[in-house]
Amino acid sequence: MAQATQSAPARLTGDFSYRSKHCACDGLLLIGDAFAFLDPVFSSGVFLALKSGELGADAIHSALLKDNVCAEQFTEYGQLICHGIESMRKLVYAFYDEGFRFSDLLKKHPELRGDLTDCLIGHLFKDFDSLFRAVGEFADVPTPLEYGNPLIQSDLNNLSSTVVEN
Ligand SMILES: Cc1cc2nc3c(=O)[nH]c(=O)nc-3n(C[C@H](O)[C@H](O)[C@H](O)COP(=O)(O)OP(=O)(O)OC[C@H]3O[C@@H](n4cnc5c(N)ncnc54)[C@H](O)[C@@H]3O)c2cc1C
Repeated sequence: MAQATQSAPARLTGDFSYRSKHCACDGLLLIGDAFAFLDPVFSSGVFLALKSGELGADAIHSALLKDNVCAEQFTEYGQLICHGIESMRKLVYAFYDEGFRFSDLLKKHPELRGDLTDCLIGHLFKDFDSLFRAVGEFADVPTPLEYGNPLIQSDLNNLSSTVVEN
């Protein structure tokens, strides 16, 4: 960098997490970053990309066996992957909360060590209610986003008729 010349002011950015409103529509399913991205503070990016690829492949396989790739076929996929993303998302929010420390959480709730480890290592598809109730004693826990269900054609028709009516 010794020879480098600064050409613009230094900038800081943060929280570039996002989620698509829908995980699928007729004949199309989103996985990985194409569906959602979480701040990778716990290295969840590659895990969620691989896991959604696996779950998405299973969903597509069973849809093809039924010869029906309508959006409805991908409802369970959307619910599962959103459950996983939401669990990790709560932990990401806690990490950035000034009132939260993992050591304080485990001092007060040593019985939750296993749940916390599971969440951090990607065993996300289980019930974390007790863990996040406890996290809520130290940090604001975000409410789940409503995004992530498949775009069902009948919903779309209802939406466009509402728009026309208005
Ligand atoms: C700066 C940064 C740091 C990160 N750090 C971490 C980390 O430490 N740990 C972690 O787990 N995650 C991290 N992530 C997140 C992680 O990299 C992503 O979540 C993950 O790579 C997503 O995988 P993906 O397969 O969905 O998408 P990608 O890895 O983006 O793969 C998509 C592929 O599709 C290709 N492609 C795009 N358009 C087309 C097209 N039209 N035709 C053909 N090919 C196409 C692209 O070239 C790319 O190779 C980080 C991300 C960024 C940006």
